Amino acid sequence: MTIKERIKRVFTGPGVENPLLKRTFFSQIILTTAVIAVCFFIFGLIFRKHLNFTLATGSMVIFMGLLLIGYQRKQDRIMHGAIYIIYCIVTGCVYVPVLYIYGGGLQSGVPLFFILAGIATILLLDNWLMFLVLIANIASAFITYRIDQKNYLADEYLPAATHTYLDIALSVIIVGWAAGMFLKTLTKGFEEKEAKVNELYNKLEDAATKDPLSGAYNRRFLMDYLNKCIQQVEDGDMKTFSIIMFDIDHFKRINDTYGHLAGDDCIRNLSLIIQNTTRKTDITTRYGGEEFICVLPTAEDTPAFRRAEQIRVAVENTQLSEDIDKTITVSGGVMMYKPGMTPEELIESADHNLYLAKESGRNQIVWHDGGIPPLVYSAYDGDALRPTFNSGRRFSDATKF
Ligand code: GH3
Ligand code: MG
Ligand code: MG
Repeated sequence: MTIKERIKRVFTGPGVENPLLKRTFFSQIILTTAVIAVCFFIFGLIFRKHLNFTLATGSMVIFMGLLLIGYQRKQDRIMHGAIYIIYCIVTGCVYVPVLYIYGGGLQSGVPLFFILAGIATILLLDNWLMFLVLIANIASAFITYRIDQKNYLADEYLPAATHTYLDIALSVIIVGWAAGMFLKTLTKGFEEKEAKVNELYNKLEDAATKDPLSGAYNRRFLMDYLNKCIQQVEDGDMKTFSIIMFDIDHFKRINDTYGHLAGDDCIRNLSLIIQNTTRKTDITTRYGGEEFICVLPTAEDTPAFRRAEQIRVAVENTQLSEDIDKTITVSGGVMMYKPGMTPEELIESADHNLYLAKESGRNQIVWHDGGIPPLVYSAYDGDALRPTFNSGRRFSDATKF
């Protein structure tokens, strides 16, 4: 950026470029000003201030209302720009000096208005005009003070001395309250927008990473996740991890006998069972039609096998669809990650074990390259591991239909 451009930037912005944001600013600023004017109008009546003070505050409320209506009716940017300037000039150079003089000068608390006018100018005007308007506002403040100091103008309109402390205190409270409300409403607006954006982002993320039928993650997510896990093992942040591949037994027959909708129920409920049976840190993905792959970070093959058995038993004991009265079973292949494996190789090995499980009669889990499950890791019943002989091999009547 050249020096010339830098200087230009100082005078032209960057400013608030988002028109929606500016709109929110303006609506809030004008509302805040109107609220303050109403309060001053009421205090003017209570403290019996000069008629001009009451007239000024009353007309201020009307003026703000008209400005807001005009702002909402005219939709083009130039008109909006003109309205911002009118607001900043009229408030800073007309209303504030008038209120100052007829409200009782420094002792009335009205000078706080000068601060608000400055803030509004900076928020609304984001080009060189801001400097001009700010200078005009500052000049009007100085001129007003000077005239007042020379002619003791404001003193004439100071309400009864006993009211002065109330006057100042109330002005401070009103201006503080109004500025607080202004910021609060703005923050709330931003928070609501942020919540909407987050919601949308989560929906997008779900759409990109999840399968709509089962609610499980999709294949793309699985591959990314496996790569991350492998990286963690390579970096020494995780000792190892395991995967389990499940496939519904004789699913073609289920579809043919009970229809595709009943088949979809099975896929959905199998996904639920897997998700509910695994830990929060494990992920469930739909690898293909009725094939699911579970990734269990930090798990060696023994706990992975136990988990797979637990899921197998749960499926066997659950009615997966209202329309299907026969037992449905799954087979599974477990594989633990070994250093040097690619994600594809890991999946292939699990798939190989799954194939062996199918070959050996289905409704069972196979691990260790087709090794027969150890005596103890069979039916996983609650927390207890019950040793049973050869119990990893289970044959269900369902597999025969
Ligand atoms: P096996 O026990 O050997 O696994 O036998 P299988 O009949 O289950 O064989 P396979 O796994 O090859 O069958 C997959 C079937 O899954 C084929 C297809 O009709 C069905 N399928 C795939 N995606 C969907 C789906 O989204 N909904 C339903 N209802 N069926 C699906
Ligand atoms: Mg199948
Ligand atoms: Mg299959």
